[in-house]
Amino acid sequence: MSSEPRIDTALSPRYAQLPTFMRMPAATDPRGRDAVVIGAPYDGGTSYRPGARFGPRAIRAESVLLHGVGVERGPGVLDLLDVVDAGDLDLSPFAMENAIDEATTALTALYEHNRAILMLGGDHSLTLAALRAAHREHGPLAVIHLDAHSDTYPPVYGGRYHHGTPFRHAIDEGLVQPQKMVQIGIRGHTPNPGSLSFARDRGVVIVTMDDFDELGTAGIKRLLLEHTTGQPVYVSIDVDAADPAYAPGTGTPAPGGLTSREILALIKVVGDLQPVGFDIVEVSPAYDHAGITSLLAAEIGAELLYQYARSLDAVPATPALTVDHDSSPGRNNR
Ligand code: MN
Ligand code: MN
Repeated sequence: MSSEPRIDTALSPRYAQLPTFMRMPAATDPRGRDAVVIGAPYDGGTSYRPGARFGPRAIRAESVLLHGVGVERGPGVLDLLDVVDAGDLDLSPFAMENAIDEATTALTALYEHNRAILMLGGDHSLTLAALRAAHREHGPLAVIHLDAHSDTYPPVYGGRYHHGTPFRHAIDEGLVQPQKMVQIGIRGHTPNPGSLSFARDRGVVIVTMDDFDELGTAGIKRLLLEHTTGQPVYVSIDVDAADPAYAPGTGTPAPGGLTSREILALIKVVGDLQPVGFDIVEVSPAYDHAGITSLLAAEIGAELLYQYARSLDAVPATPALTVDHDSSPGRNNR
């Protein structure tokens, strides 16, 4: 629990005040925190629909509805973790190499002074910066990656970096252990089938949607436990892993994806692992409707923070299975 006072929802309605993520305290230079939420407003790596630079704002705006306390949860995540919203990275909108370098430097500094980071994208190219920063702190990482695309594409249009390539660079740079990397939700059309071979040849486990239909949520949770237990794990979630019916507001939508419920069920395994970093990327609000994509991204972020608390054994052994509806709103609904 952070030392700063939180907004009391019993006194201030959830649509009021500056919208930090989940209305958590803001801190521009956080130190000694369990987790830091940071926006990465950048979309210079998008190959189709742009607009993910506005993702962090839209995700924060929808996140004010999330109390953290939940029916399956007992205590709220803001009662369990010292977590703050550190605002946004200031990234060059023009030069991709500059943006990735700026993000790497800033995220590395955040890791030096805090335990974990939740990055709100922005397009997926910034995950390379997050992996570089997390690797400096933790060494080669296991990865859980939800996405319609494997993002192991080679350079394209003369650009070395783009939103389809972060995991190829991460493998080439030795930031991740490809045999301890699981990609879930891969499907649809690809201009470069060799990019899947690139990943598979190095040991990456690719769970296509056909595989998902075979294995189900429980089977994939077992697979994740088998491949990533005992390793520092980075969790990267491209919102286009969800079907466009659940996440229309994104740059390269692909029908036939996961439901919101399947994603939220899957990531509950994260608390049984050793997660060290998280991102939720590729929300493009201009293509969204009624905020459903941003709200899903916010819910995923909230769930990841709760799972992080679980991984730190910060959640009481027997959390309440039901919310006490008679308790004071000022106590539970902040
Ligand atoms: Mn994608
Ligand atoms: Mn992606």
